Amino acid sequence: MSTLDNILEEINKAETIVILTHENPDGDAIGSALALYNSLKQIGKNPDVIIPEYPRTFEFLPGAEETKKESDVEKYDLAISVDCATIKMLNGFAKYFENAKSRISIDHHSTNTMFGDLNYVSPDAPACAQILLVVLEYFKVDITKEIGTCILAGIITDTGGFKYSGVTAETFEFVAWLANKGINVPKVYRKVLQIKTRANFELNRIAANRLEFYEDGKVAFTYITKEDEEKVNSESGDHEGIVETGRDIEGVEVSIFLRETDKGCKVSMRSNEYVNVSDVCLLLGGGGHIRAAGATMQCTIEQAKEKILRQIKSVI
Ligand code: 5GP
Ligand code: MN
Repeated sequence: MSTLDNILEEINKAETIVILTHENPDGDAIGSALALYNSLKQIGKNPDVIIPEYPRTFEFLPGAEETKKESDVEKYDLAISVDCATIKMLNGFAKYFENAKSRISIDHHSTNTMFGDLNYVSPDAPACAQILLVVLEYFKVDITKEIGTCILAGIITDTGGFKYSGVTAETFEFVAWLANKGINVPKVYRKVLQIKTRANFELNRIAANRLEFYEDGKVAFTYITKEDEEKVNSESGDHEGIVETGRDIEGVEVSIFLRETDKGCKVSMRSNEYVNVSDVCLLLGGGGHIRAAGATMQCTIEQAKEKILRQIKSVI
């Protein structure tokens, strides 16, 4: 039996199911979770999706209103994690995963630690949502407009609008297939990637003003503090995309964005052509993909900046 057969068997067996994803969820995390949620409902299940901080940008996705911030269920029959590389990144709600009788991880991070009992991980896929499309087809789920919209939201956000290196002909074939089903691709694109909240715009402005270059312009660095976020009334997800500003400047190979949080300092790193930022972030206790990775460091912005710039020096 293939892993997918085993996963389907676990789903069929389970009476209570919980779907989880990583903290600070982005469009791929939410799109994947809701695509799976709507699909499991279609096959007669009634899963919980637990997303404590739900970004406003993705409120239009089918199933968004049914997500929960927490749950009273002590022990689910089955927990499925999507788009999450490590159990640590499930953060405050890892308990739902750890306590479940059976655990599955579906993901596309090469740094996935295989923390499920069953793991379906394809690092070549540019978005977890793209893997889910294959998985759901295999399960013979009817990919409705609702499910397709969730999948499309994941693909568009994690590929930066079809422009990152993981995009292949297959990605466009999937999207063409979704468009043929009547999904309005430009409309979803605009909603998940183009429209910015006002707070996001203000944070971008602050970060752009602070942007500095290092290593002969090959490294761009910027940050935002908790105070900045308070000043602009920032909500969950309002820092998304700031790291892209540095990446898109001519001559820049690595863009670094730091965000002060209650737990220390959240690192976002992007590269363009040759630096493996996943390796750099692994050394900082995080992980991710070759061209997009991150970590959480327990120190101040200044300390993190110094440590990261030292690491980057040896790979740039
Ligand atoms: P972002 O910069 O958008 O937060 O994250 C970029 C990529 O790196 C995402 O795929 C994300 O899952 C991964 N990533 C971010 N932070 C961490 C971390 O602390 N640990 C691991 N393993 N991956 C991370
Ligand atoms: Mn993803």
